[in-house]
Amino acid sequence: MGLKFPIYLDHAATTPCDPRVVEAMLPFFTERYGNPGSRNHRFGWEAEEGVDTARQQVAALIGSDEKEVVFTSGATESNNIAIKGAAYMYERAPAGSGRPRGHIISAIHEHKAVLDPCKRLQKEGFDVTFLEPGSDGLITAEMVRGAMREDTILVTIMWANNEIGTINEIREIGALCHEREVIFHTDATQWVGKMPTDVGKDNVDLLSMSGHKIYGPKGVGALYVRRRKPRVRLQSLVDGGGQERGFRSGTLNVPGIVGLGKAAEIALQEMEQDGRRLLAMRTRLENAVTAALDVVQVNGHREKRLPQITNISFGFVEGESLMMAVKEIACSSGSACTSASLEPSYVLKALGVGDELAHSSLRLSLGRWTTDEQVDYAAEAIVKSVKKLRELSPLYDMHKEGIDLSKVEWAHH
Ligand SMILES: *Cc1c(COP(=O)(O)O)cnc(C)c1O
Repeated sequence: MGLKFPIYLDHAATTPCDPRVVEAMLPFFTERYGNPGSRNHRFGWEAEEGVDTARQQVAALIGSDEKEVVFTSGATESNNIAIKGAAYMYERAPAGSGRPRGHIISAIHEHKAVLDPCKRLQKEGFDVTFLEPGSDGLITAEMVRGAMREDTILVTIMWANNEIGTINEIREIGALCHEREVIFHTDATQWVGKMPTDVGKDNVDLLSMSGHKIYGPKGVGALYVRRRKPRVRLQSLVDGGGQERGFRSGTLNVPGIVGLGKAAEIALQEMEQDGRRLLAMRTRLENAVTAALDVVQVNGHREKRLPQITNISFGFVEGESLMMAVKEIACSSGSACTSASLEPSYVLKALGVGDELAHSSLRLSLGRWTTDEQVDYAAEAIVKSVKKLRELSPLYDMHKEGIDLSKVEWAHH
């Protein structure tokens, strides 16, 4: 079979829907189109049955009770419901009292869907500590312990980072939170469905996940809300029909939820073999690139890292030229488009990667249908492109001649 271009290596951004998921969803558009809130007829019952099955499938994936699963429109909404809902419910001092309404702990390299709710709460009178990782990107329980205060009400730390794949000390952070009676939320969007999850053993109180990162549909996700030890309460952000135990009003997205459930079921069955395969492929990719090139670095923690993501920085190439050169590979760069300019990734910056090097970084994320052939092609294309770009770089020549560029005095005109 020949290769098709571009090669998709951006599964951390989104995954294709598994055909088995699409098949499970289809009847819920055209035949079983009832509203699960309709209790008086078969249409409603059939829709509810679909939702119930999905709830069981998601619960099985994360080791929770099905009653603890709240369906949402995705991880962004789950994060908002969890973080703002917990902050408003557990605040220690009323707004305008002059005292902080409560203290929240997060980290500077969380996803925007965590950072921005935290920043809003900061504006509204909560204190937020944003922990800073070391060069491996890891957030440890010790870091969280060091930031704990008497008025800490919530800790929100992602399970695994979406840019570098680094896996945080979730079970230990959860244990610490339980010891201090602080609510613990984790954005597990990149983790769930890829790695074994047990919200009980892992001491998680609130967990966000998304359909489209686990081969399910876009626009659907879930929030796990612990019901025992402790029973977590949340102030609702969307008021209305009181669906989903009042945590998220609105008619349920039945086809989407059925798809998420099916995706969860498949993930549970296949994650072990998928994980092994992806790790082997990622290793093959990293080895090929690092063996052929000097001045490259793989970002993130060496071992505590998701198997399907690699983030590699290439010295002595210019970021935009690199992206142009590897056009046939669909991946992410270490630059984020803001309204006016290209900003270096704040995640890589948090790890201490310089602006230049951050711009010339690639995040390659593999998935269920990635092949060895694709990975080999990508490695070769990247190596070829970097070599070619470096041929044009006088700085790389100087580096090769052994000149220490940090000591060079540049002439300014
Ligand atoms: C993709 C992603 C999100 C956003 O999920 P949506 O379902 O698209 O809202 C949040 N957090 C992380 C870590 C992600 O990777």
